[in-house]
Amino acid sequence: MGGPAPYDTPVRAVVLGPEGEPELADVAEPDGPGELVRVLACGLCGSDMEKIGVWPPGAVLGHEVVAETADGRRVALVHHAGCGTCSRCLAGHESTCERFPEPTIVPGGFAERVRAAAHLELPPSVDDAHGTYAEPLACVLRGAERLPRGRVLVVGNGFIGRLFGAVLELRGDDVFAVDRLAARAGRAPNGPVAAAVVCAPGGADTAVAAVEPGGTVLLFADAGSVPAAPVYRRELTVVGSRSASPRHMTEAVALLPELALPAPTVLPFERVAEALHLHRTGGALKIVLQP
Ligand SMILES: [Zn+2]
Ligand SMILES: [Zn+2]
Repeated sequence: MGGPAPYDTPVRAVVLGPEGEPELADVAEPDGPGELVRVLACGLCGSDMEKIGVWPPGAVLGHEVVAETADGRRVALVHHAGCGTCSRCLAGHESTCERFPEPTIVPGGFAERVRAAAHLELPPSVDDAHGTYAEPLACVLRGAERLPRGRVLVVGNGFIGRLFGAVLELRGDDVFAVDRLAARAGRAPNGPVAAAVVCAPGGADTAVAAVEPGGTVLLFADAGSVPAAPVYRRELTVVGSRSASPRHMTEAVALLPELALPAPTVLPFERVAEALHLHRTGGALKIVLQP
């Protein structure tokens, strides 16, 4: 208890403006269910960028959130979650559950304060900016479960590709990585691989060409069209994985202190235009915004 009620106090947020481009504005204190928490940092994700110009003006993006609870705990917020009981959830396809799209971070992570449906406490050794990696890492851990072990090629070695590389190396795989930007590429494959994961648009052809007969291609991005003939003739397995589940969030938070991951470029909300430019031009591997 104690302290003034926060109602009617405007919340500074990055919202989609009338032309669709994100800009700084005040929004109403978030209402409704969920716990009111103070945002400390929020990662800018490729999936946020895809919503610019698509979501309506006034929308607040951001789902890779570290926040402080009213009782002073630092937490990573759980993004969407399935119901846990329907046939899709039980089959491991939580992100296709009918309840999955329900809002869990209101209005969105790029706001000073949000209402959160669920969260997990962060270890003290993980700082606020690195804590925002919990959500994308959870998505990657879930995707990695669909990849056979052994020689694995990462196609698109940006931030998500690096997360895959770190996770796969930790489990003992022989990891290769290619990228259309030469400066981002990792070790080039020296022969066919057992599996390839597509982390960037347009990478499906590269992945299909790289895997051995009977191999697996994991689509972790909307990767363009997948050529049917080699999938058929070489009996490839093509699987998709999108988003995370609460179980993978728990695993990600526990794993974060152990992984060597790229450093974020941290900018205040005020510099959102610069953040978008950096993201679009490949000038930063990962951008984290802070209120
Ligand atoms: Zn994301
Ligand atoms: Zn469900």
